[in-house]
Amino acid sequence: MKENLEKRINTLAEWLYESRHLVVFTGAGISTESGLPDFRGPDGLWTRRDKRLPPKAMSRSWDSVEPNSGHISITDLQKLGKLQFLISQNVDNLHIKSGIHPDLLAELHGNMTKLRCMRCGKKVDQSDGMTMCGCGGRLVSSVVNFGEPLREKDLRPSFKHSQESDLFIVVGSSLVVTPAADMPLEALRSGAKLVIINQGKTPFDHRAHLRFYEKIGDVLPKAVKRLKRLMRLFE
Ligand SMILES: [Zn+2]
Repeated sequence: MKENLEKRINTLAEWLYESRHLVVFTGAGISTESGLPDFRGPDGLWTRRDKRLPPKAMSRSWDSVEPNSGHISITDLQKLGKLQFLISQNVDNLHIKSGIHPDLLAELHGNMTKLRCMRCGKKVDQSDGMTMCGCGGRLVSSVVNFGEPLREKDLRPSFKHSQESDLFIVVGSSLVVTPAADMPLEALRSGAKLVIINQGKTPFDHRAHLRFYEKIGDVLPKAVKRLKRLMRLFE
């Protein structure tokens, strides 16, 4: 596998170049490369959430965590007009922090830095210190708790774009949690090419048209660079 990494990156760049409806799907794996804790480890965010415990205090604040080259590559795809939609399982705000337009993003599990109005659904920054929305509704954490259903507002466009996609790229997710894991299936049914960039195994590995077990940071930035060359854009 390792020997043909360059070849696979070239293929990915060509597919990005040809794609008309690119959908990217990200999971915790993209953020561990930013130094975020392992979400499924013994003290991981999700493990604690599942036990109804608050997130463990981090040695630094959430605000100090910066997007990495993986996040930035996805933002580059947006700038190049390639990204049609981004679906994320992450709550760390790093996609928005890296410049992804909120209209192109579904945060399936919410966002740690945002509060949501229980009445109108509007999202506001937690740092604003507000407790009530302008509409009079109460502001609560936007993070979707364990056992709570995902929100239609995020699910609907995610499924729609998955069905419309011709290229679906999974970045740093093991695709084990449904309904999120159903999205690549929708894309495959619609004839999309499926690309998986994840260091661990996924249930979709045998159906992927292109598979990277390498680090995200060793794949995506190079693929975007080659895409720019194909688009005759030079840095
Ligand atoms: Zn409201």
